[in-house]
Amino acid sequence: MTFSVHGLPVARGIAIGRAVLMASSRVDVAHYFIDPGQVESEITRVRVGRNAVVDEIHRLQHTIAAMGPKEAPHELAALLDVHLMLLQDEELISGVKHWISERLYNAEWALTTQLEALARQFDDMEDEYLRERKADLEQVAERILRYMKGVGSPVAPPAARRKTQQDLLLDDSIDVPLVLIAHDLSPPDMLQFKQSVFAGFVTDVGGRTSHTAIVARSMDIPAVVGARGASHLVRQDDWVIVDGDAGVMIVDPSPIILAEYGFKQRQAELERGRLSRLRHTPAVTLDGQKVELLANIEMPEDAPGAVLAGAVGVGLFRSEFLFMGRKGDLPDEQEQYLAYRKAIEGMQGLPVTIRTVDVGADKPLDDSLRDIAHLNPALGLRAIRWSLADPAMFLTQLRAILRAAAHGQVNLLIPMLAHASEIRQTLSLLDFARAELDNRGLTYGPVRLGAMIEIPAAALTLKIFLKYFDFLSIGTNDLIQYTLAIDRADESVAHLYDPCHPAVLRLVSETIAECNRQGKGVSVCGEMAGDITLTRLLLGMGLRSFSMHPAQILAVKQEVLRADAARLVPWVEQVLESDDPASLIFK
Ligand code: PEP
Ligand code: MG
Repeated sequence: MTFSVHGLPVARGIAIGRAVLMASSRVDVAHYFIDPGQVESEITRVRVGRNAVVDEIHRLQHTIAAMGPKEAPHELAALLDVHLMLLQDEELISGVKHWISERLYNAEWALTTQLEALARQFDDMEDEYLRERKADLEQVAERILRYMKGVGSPVAPPAARRKTQQDLLLDDSIDVPLVLIAHDLSPPDMLQFKQSVFAGFVTDVGGRTSHTAIVARSMDIPAVVGARGASHLVRQDDWVIVDGDAGVMIVDPSPIILAEYGFKQRQAELERGRLSRLRHTPAVTLDGQKVELLANIEMPEDAPGAVLAGAVGVGLFRSEFLFMGRKGDLPDEQEQYLAYRKAIEGMQGLPVTIRTVDVGADKPLDDSLRDIAHLNPALGLRAIRWSLADPAMFLTQLRAILRAAAHGQVNLLIPMLAHASEIRQTLSLLDFARAELDNRGLTYGPVRLGAMIEIPAAALTLKIFLKYFDFLSIGTNDLIQYTLAIDRADESVAHLYDPCHPAVLRLVSETIAECNRQGKGVSVCGEMAGDITLTRLLLGMGLRSFSMHPAQILAVKQEVLRADAARLVPWVEQVLESDDPASLIFK
């Protein structure tokens, strides 16, 4: 039966494919595709893990048998019997084999996928006692996963194992596009999937500018977040359509609906083809204003794609993605230096803006470190606050960036500053980093220094910022969050997350105007910059530098080419005076 689930649109386009459910296991599980030649060894890993748990239960049964009924109640023995039975269940074993050999999932992913499928069968049972056995099944699977952690994968780590869509298309076993459905995908999860095969994503939670949504957008595949209940309503292998423009997922579509979306998909491809002709066209408005269209990237490997998309530089390299998912083993100076250098070289002489680490809030370093200790991580130890709290770590990053700056044009961007004292501390650490490099006799290059304006306090004290910095970059994702007191990652308040709120527009336009007055560079690098419905508005405010995901550059360029910047100025004045700016912007 066809039904739809509504969420928030985050990445444009239509995807049609089979659902792959990512189980939300309590154990941290890697998800990646294996090579066909590794099927047997992955099945063996699960078998070894399962046998270890079976042995453990046998040992417990012997211990219990030696105890009296007081120390070891009858229920305990019965429970162990149930666990043994579940472990030997044919469906568990054959299912795991299926996901490994047919879908080429790694062992852990196959086990959690089968667990999810079986758990649903338990949910549907009438008998309450049997329904409750689902918890036992979960315990058993988690014990297997723990044993498997001890049994290292013979398969290379995920980063080296990623396959391109091309590889998988050549592979007969996977010939249908796959759509990933999950309760939540953390930014490290998303990174793992960045170059993988999924044709679309849907998550139960998340806001339009949550970091998960941002990474989905950077992958340029249709995605919907905040589709509450999606991961419960969809079953493994269901056919689904992801409409990333409307923010809807359609499950089990009828042939008529499939035909309609197939048509939309082809139209979108044609539009992409048309836009690609603009790749080498300079971004200049009708009245001759030059506009700089820059790329936001997460990893050095994204740089060549940014050049291909027509970016004239990187306006935001979110360096924190180098630090994520490493289980506390942070990259040292040399590793970081090589990564920044790779990004710089990948941009072939174009400028690269490297932002220092911005972790915390919805970007934990590891899933296991999701901030549950603090009540409101978005207001806590995030970004520059985190860096200043750990000067050794921050100095390592500063030295690495300075060294990489010897290889090209580098801008150093500091996130989430609000206080003059933070600015002064940052600058003195930068001097210290240079002095350390001098002492070690290492070469380094000059950097232009920029601050992100993403806290209203910063936008209201621009004079202080402009005294110290060469340029400002407006992080509208956070500026909106902090101005309106709306958690950007929380889908339940997403309807109030409004880029066109008069307060937000005033802060953005005054920041642009003040920088222009003082002849300082100013850019917008939040999601507003890549939103074609807001291009004219930002141009009319005087913005001439936009930084966005490479996939959005050509569509924004088309808007720039069609705009007359001078004629937009009086219209923007009206918008800024209005109680209801959206009615003028979207009319
Ligand atoms: C922003 O806040 O707008 C921004 C670009 O930074 P991030 O999205 O990484 O917080
Ligand atoms: Mg930000």
